[in-house]
Amino acid sequence: IPMIQVKNLYKVYKVGDTRVYALGGVDFTIYKGEFCAIVGPSGSGKSTLLNMMAGLEKPSKGEITIAGKHIEKLTENQLVAFRRKHVGFIFQSYNLLQTMNAVENVALPLSFRGVPRKKRNETAVKYIKLVGLEKQMKHMANEMSGGQQQRVGIARALAVDPQIIFADEPTGNLDSKTTKEILGLMRKIVREQNQTLVMVTHDNYIAGFADRQLHIVDGKIFKIEEQHHDDTEE
Ligand code: ADP
Ligand code: ADP
Repeated sequence: IPMIQVKNLYKVYKVGDTRVYALGGVDFTIYKGEFCAIVGPSGSGKSTLLNMMAGLEKPSKGEITIAGKHIEKLTENQLVAFRRKHVGFIFQSYNLLQTMNAVENVALPLSFRGVPRKKRNETAVKYIKLVGLEKQMKHMANEMSGGQQQRVGIARALAVDPQIIFADEPTGNLDSKTTKEILGLMRKIVREQNQTLVMVTHDNYIAGFADRQLHIVDGKIFKIEEQHHDDTEE
């Protein structure tokens, strides 16, 4: 089932008198249950593409359909509602609140959505366990390793039960062993919950953990590769 369909997508920035083509005609489909990587060098257009799929920036031309909805036609208010309902984000820098513990950090987006205290605590604990942090539930961000903090970041993104998760260099600050653990964990959870994970990275090795790699250079997709992964490998 198609989850994200991108058609003939262009993004042009005006910088003074010149035009920068950040995206120059991009087409692809990402399917439900898929872990897809968008991989390319710095300046190739990855962030621009991610921002448009997440409804954070408007395309200059083209179509983006998410779960059957044309998001390029939505107003700002509709986009906010769309992101609340369907989208989770995982950041390179984790973005945890230092004054809250692991469970409280995961519960925070639920509180923004008006979920009552008891329910949001139960949900946060469930996702903290899912990412293997049952022993660190009460730990503050600065009492956790980078890998543990990113596990909290993953739990926080998943706790609102989004259909789509966007991850921007999610392992950028982690050592190679922890990187493998985190990527394996994300792949496993997304598969089990039949969600869709879109990860942006400049690193081919990291992209290799995804089911499919869309290679982007100079604002154009030039190659699509597929990879088979067993859930037993980590
Ligand atoms: P990546 O994420 O792959 O590093 P970006 O999407 O950030 O690439 O950038 C793609 C191109 O678009 C680059 O040439 C960048 O300088 C340009 N660009 C991105 N955002 C802007 C902006 N807000 N204004 C002008 N140029 C931009
Ligand atoms: P990333 O590490 O995610 O690629 P960047 O440093 O490329 O981040 O971009 C950070 C922000 O600055 C983004 O929102 C991007 O759209 C914007 N940006 C990138 N390149 C330019 C540019 N040449 N001019 C103006 N804004 C830019």
